[in-house]
Amino acid sequence: MKRLSFLALLFGILFVAPIHAQQSLDAMVDRELAQLVSTYKMLHAAPELSHYEEKTSAFFATQLRALGFTVTERVGKYERANLVGYGVVAVMKNGDGPTVWVRTDLDALPVEEKTGLPYASKVKTRNEAGQDVSVMHACGHDVHITNMIGTAKMLAALKDQWHGTLVILGQPAEETVTGARAMLADGLYSRFPKPDFVLALHDSADVAAGKITFCPGYAMASSTSVDLVIRGLGGHGSKPEATKDPVVIAAQTILALQTIISRENSPLDPAVVTIGSIHGGTKRNIIPDEVVLQLTIRTYKEEVRQHILTSIERIAKGIAAAAGVPDDRAPILKVIESEGAPSLYNDPPLTERITNAIGRAIGAENVVKATPLMASEDFGRLSLDHQIPAFMFWLGAIEPSRVEASRKSGKPLPSLHSSLFEPLPEPTLRTGIKAMTTAVLELMKK
Ligand SMILES: [Zn+2]
Ligand SMILES: [Zn+2]
Repeated sequence: MKRLSFLALLFGILFVAPIHAQQSLDAMVDRELAQLVSTYKMLHAAPELSHYEEKTSAFFATQLRALGFTVTERVGKYERANLVGYGVVAVMKNGDGPTVWVRTDLDALPVEEKTGLPYASKVKTRNEAGQDVSVMHACGHDVHITNMIGTAKMLAALKDQWHGTLVILGQPAEETVTGARAMLADGLYSRFPKPDFVLALHDSADVAAGKITFCPGYAMASSTSVDLVIRGLGGHGSKPEATKDPVVIAAQTILALQTIISRENSPLDPAVVTIGSIHGGTKRNIIPDEVVLQLTIRTYKEEVRQHILTSIERIAKGIAAAAGVPDDRAPILKVIESEGAPSLYNDPPLTERITNAIGRAIGAENVVKATPLMASEDFGRLSLDHQIPAFMFWLGAIEPSRVEASRKSGKPLPSLHSSLFEPLPEPTLRTGIKAMTTAVLELMKK
């Protein structure tokens, strides 16, 4: 009898308590969901471009303040002094314990929405170049904001289950990869408690709502923007012998640069060199003075990135020299630091710990390992070069039957940044809020 009751007690401690906690989280999310879906639709209909997230950040700040967070607005200093940093930092102190940061981005894209949804964006504005553009949350940052508000609600209500300092970060200008840098430049980690862990999620345009996917280790590439100015000696198109033609040198350079990935880089280190733009010349019979190439470089490892930059310069200078261009007209390589983003490295032990916990909350079959991407994000910057363990996971956002139909037909679904990108709000938010709340509780539980 005694033995039996001991076993019953043990069973209670080991199983009933977590199951009970899980049931209460599920019920809490369900209670808030209708309200959160209307918040999502409201945000979706009112997107703001990168660097101009004034109303979105004010709304986000108000929501977090109402939940008891200490909120600081307008955190962020851009290199261009005319821009306002609309970053939001919300802190909730709950005794001694780890400091965990969770980040959402706030900005939208210059895309004209074509989903035909009743809450589709009709917003038009003027961009920084003075052009009229439509605006859409085509990357789903409205999903992230709503998910963050829902997660903050859960964690504020479950304060007795965790200890430490929770910091929620609303980051502007992710799409231009300038926001995280601007917030760090404004003393993010000195004005506010420095994180022991940083977390984020991003919605996925080809994963079913109800699932999350994750990639341990390098998950997204670094992105480096480069201008390569190839200089020659211009002149009359009928008199090539009196010139050094930068158009021909540019053509040779473009082909030679392909050998960096194919012949110089280890096939075990993924990397991309793309020349996305070439501009030179004005008229058929004029040999111009210069041609400008615009490149993007993607790598996971920093040493690979450095090697590629060195190789681009060496090859460009070698080809110009071979064409007889004098040294003082050698090609110029310009790295545009303000457009760069570091790679995203998901700390493997942190990734394992959190995905196991999320598996217990939403079902292990709904937590799926994915392959890394060569796309970029500036969330990785918050890890300060891997010093702070970071983890970002992908949140399935698409109607499951559409994912299945696409898999069967081979016809791809609209991607992120598409005018037809259409997340399914309710199951996406339900899964995202459960997953992120569970992730934070795992790191901060008593
Ligand atoms: Zn995006
Ligand atoms: Zn995005």
